[in-house]
Amino acid sequence: MPSDRIRRIAQQFIVDVEQATRLDLQEELKRLVDGMAQPQRSATTASPPSSKPAKKKRKTPPHCVHDGCVLPHGGPGRSYLCKQHYDERERAKKEGSAK
Ligand SMILES: [Zn+2]
Repeated sequence: MPSDRIRRIAQQFIVDVEQATRLDLQEELKRLVDGMAQPQRSATTASPPSSKPAKKKRKTPPHCVHDGCVLPHGGPGRSYLCKQHYDERERAKKEGSAK
């Protein structure tokens, strides 16, 4: 049976490879075990696992966005303007459109 020959050859090949790579395998296994024991020492800096979301939609200003104004703004509904500047803008809009 030719398969017997092939099996013998394959077995001999495996033995040869085992003998040839035994030291390498031992070193590799040692490194693997060491790596498993200390997974934090992996030097892969390709993609850190989501350290920070950093997905802020919009930067909310701390106060009214009008130049020099430090009054609290009325939120996105008022374009981050304080009541005074929002009213001012609305008035200007009305005056601009009413001709
Ligand atoms: Zn303001």
